[in-house]
Amino acid sequence: MQDIKELNLKTLEDKLLSWGSPKYHARGIFNWIYQKGVYEFSQMSNLPISLRGLLAKEYLILSLHLADTQKSSDGTTKFLFELADKNLVEAVNIPMVKRASTGKTANRLHSTTGCISSQAGCKFGCSFCASGQKGFKRNLSAGEILDEVLYLKNNTSIGNLTHIVFMGTGEPLDNYDHLLKAIRIINSPDAFNVGARRITISTCGIIPGIKKLAQEDLQVELSISLHAAVDKLRNQLMPVNNKYPLATLIKCCQEYITKTNRQITFEYILIKGVNADAVAAGNLVKLLKDLRLAKVNLIPANCVAESKIFPPDDAQIDYFKQYLIKSGLNVTLRRERGQDIDAACGQLRLKYEKI
Ligand code: SAH
Repeated sequence: MQDIKELNLKTLEDKLLSWGSPKYHARGIFNWIYQKGVYEFSQMSNLPISLRGLLAKEYLILSLHLADTQKSSDGTTKFLFELADKNLVEAVNIPMVKRASTGKTANRLHSTTGCISSQAGCKFGCSFCASGQKGFKRNLSAGEILDEVLYLKNNTSIGNLTHIVFMGTGEPLDNYDHLLKAIRIINSPDAFNVGARRITISTCGIIPGIKKLAQEDLQVELSISLHAAVDKLRNQLMPVNNKYPLATLIKCCQEYITKTNRQITFEYILIKGVNADAVAAGNLVKLLKDLRLAKVNLIPANCVAESKIFPPDDAQIDYFKQYLIKSGLNVTLRRERGQDIDAACGQLRLKYEKI
């Protein structure tokens, strides 16, 4: 059986034509799958019964199974999925509430961000991250990435799935072709219709992938997981830095910004006793100060039992943030969501696999 989500609108239309069916049914099928969230062809009530039969014989819609789920008191819900070959991946729904003023009344807008995995396991072995602790299993197919999105969309507890971040397990730019194929369907008005600016790719700094992305006609958001501003420390925290060291990474980011005119967000986990003092803040300013359109997103480290890392105290976090702001950097501070449910990368899978 093939995954129908591997087909884009055009290839599905071609398939229908080869069966002697009108190609306009392709849009209808996309609508049933991606907008109505139907998992069975038999439920596609406006398609001819014979076509539903042909589709069901050759294709499946959803190929993963839910293995476990955890819901946080803040509404964040984490899903652990088992793939057809028994590999496990995680995805997380993170609800957001925004205030929107319409005239005199203030409405609360509810929406959800889906955090998606791009690989089963991870080969990059960052010391603070739970995802790589069991090593790399394999790339996800585009259909499997879309499975996660489909499942999250159908299981948001509040509002619609409006944003997608590739910050789950794995390195998205190490699975480039499948990632881009999935993103085009996430972005397609006939499918999930999530605007490109609401889709974020987060990378540990895979330079060839960033260069390729700069050439695409897609306005997706790019985040770089930085976490250290000098090679010595970054080599320790993120072994990928040995291959793509800071000077070449920052040069590549500058070229990306020049080519796309788009901002890059630099993610910086604050880890107590490691990268959160005044010297580290100074190094970060030095590294990024000449980069046009850069933003720093500070994230107090999420404790991962196996790697014994801790966030600094609030006063130190605030000092670090103010230091960057006073030096002219554009800074945000993100509080980790779902801390009571092992929502940091790979933690649910790790727990499950240990049992
Ligand atoms: N491989 C990609 C995407 C997966 S990680 C990347 O490196 O960006 C998604 C984000 O979660 C990254 O910024 C990563 O550094 C961060 N992360 C991993 N472990 C964490 C922890 N223990 N606490 C806080 N953030 C963590």
